[in-house]
Amino acid sequence: MKLVIFGSAGSGKGTYASRLEPILKIVKISTGDMFREFAKQGTDFGKKVEEIMKSGQLVPDEIVIKMLKERIGKPDAKKGFILDGFPRTVEQAKALDKITKIDALINLIVPEDVIIARLSTREFCSKCGRIYNKLNIKPKVPGVCDICGGSLIQREDDKPQAVKERLKVHEKQIKPVLDYYKGKVKFLNIKCNSVDIPPEIMVEKILEEMKKVSLINK
Ligand code: AMP
Repeated sequence: MKLVIFGSAGSGKGTYASRLEPILKIVKISTGDMFREFAKQGTDFGKKVEEIMKSGQLVPDEIVIKMLKERIGKPDAKKGFILDGFPRTVEQAKALDKITKIDALINLIVPEDVIIARLSTREFCSKCGRIYNKLNIKPKVPGVCDICGGSLIQREDDKPQAVKERLKVHEKQIKPVLDYYKGKVKFLNIKCNSVDIPPEIMVEKILEEMKKVSLINK
């Protein structure tokens, strides 16, 4: 099964994709995670990517597409994948079409106030990347990852100025990409109108919608 999970920063796409990964037994591929990994390595390329991410702008299409193509070609993606953060432009969507056929698009619809509340309280593990939230995905020990014991930090681009820029960029870019997919793939529109809804409920909602369109068995 090949899925794309779509939504702005703070829509929950990374969290839901991580939780869907073991349930659906497909691998989550996050271009944002891959870029953060490059940034950590501190190479010239990593430094360039880090600058772009900090500004809230997008990494150029040709770089993202090449990286994604290589990633999809790896053995663990043969059975299927869930793309998180890709495609973000029509160019990327067209390139993806040439590489493979997507079965469905999970479209997360979340109001801006919910997004802002979430991002300002979000943390992630500096070692394994797991996402937490001070409101509703709390670690057992504050500041420490439940899974690997790594320390929890706030993402540079979750800081207010970068968030505003990311939402603006997303707004401008997302519409043409959604329009591009209309009529081409199954659309699962998933609404989340409150910051208090725990991720397990949202994941259930996504699975319910997948059942309705026969992507998974009842
Ligand atoms: P994310 O974790 O998906 O919010 O991505 C973090 C940052 O990585 C974005 O703000 C972009 O700078 C960059 N990025 C991730 N995915 C893409 C993509 N598909 N195209 C361009 N830039 C991307």
